[in-house]
Amino acid sequence: MERKVRVRFAPSPTGPLHMGGVRTALYNYLFARQRGGDFILRIEDTDSHRFVPGAEAYIMEALKWCGITINEGVSEGGPHAPYRQSERKEIYLKYALQLVESGNAYYAFDTPEELNAIRAEAEAAGNTFAYNYEVRGKLATSLALPPDEVQRRIERGDQWVIRFRMPENEEVEMHDLIRGDVVVNTSTLDDKVLYKSADSLPTYHLANIVDDHLMEITHVIRGEEWLPSLPLHYLLYRAFGWSETQPDFAHLPLLLKPTGGGKLSKRDGDKMGFPVFPLRWVSPQGEVSHGYREDGYFPEAFINMLALLGWNPGTEQELFTMDELI
Ligand code: GLU
Repeated sequence: MERKVRVRFAPSPTGPLHMGGVRTALYNYLFARQRGGDFILRIEDTDSHRFVPGAEAYIMEALKWCGITINEGVSEGGPHAPYRQSERKEIYLKYALQLVESGNAYYAFDTPEELNAIRAEAEAAGNTFAYNYEVRGKLATSLALPPDEVQRRIERGDQWVIRFRMPENEEVEMHDLIRGDVVVNTSTLDDKVLYKSADSLPTYHLANIVDDHLMEITHVIRGEEWLPSLPLHYLLYRAFGWSETQPDFAHLPLLLKPTGGGKLSKRDGDKMGFPVFPLRWVSPQGEVSHGYREDGYFPEAFINMLALLGWNPGTEQELFTMDELI
């Protein structure tokens, strides 16, 4: 059965939106509009250490200025209410526990001191430390401890995390709409943390997969920096039994700094010699970065430029309205 196209833009509110983020939002928006689908905004705010006050409001305002309208996550709870992962906390624990139950994840109780000791041991032997199948049984985890000891530690309030149990040596075959077929062997991957008791919050990977599934996302269009996470995401879909409805993935090539020094980041701002933000941003520390709007650019011109970064119609046409882009 053909599913209705549903895409999402899922920024973490760790700062203002830079050009790369707006481009990702734009490509998602255009794809949804072209296919008569839904475009969802989901704020991925589960990393309390990287949360920046004001970032969400900036994201909403920047999208509005660009003419990128959201048709879900807005109808719920008022006109300016996107989905927020911090408001969906209880959902993620249930799914993390489901993975423990099915043997795809486990509790880890190790302290930073215990981890450091294992790391030092590995380094002394000339190996790089990875939290993987070779070490997981040597640490204080539910794979190494008797079940009643696991229960005892949880009940007495010890801190724990739930980690994904990465298969030892398996070829994960993936498909990306831009990169084509990609194969990765799991022996190079570690057991990522999915959930932390310390703040009762999931990590990005768990919350992202659970939400994409529950929100019936059909296509994940995001920056290429997430391509290395794709094997874990495929394996999470499989562990949950959701592979059949897992979304298609398209990882967009990144916008790089004009100086050739790697990917554009929120920190670059004006340091690059031109503003990379759509709007003026004042950081909580009071640092000001100006944006395209203050420089007098029309949103139509900004969108037109972004659309052509990574796409070409194959004709001489250089000016496109949003409707033409759709
Ligand atoms: N929260 C992630 C980010 O800030 C989203 C990645 C994704 O789209 O899966 O980029």
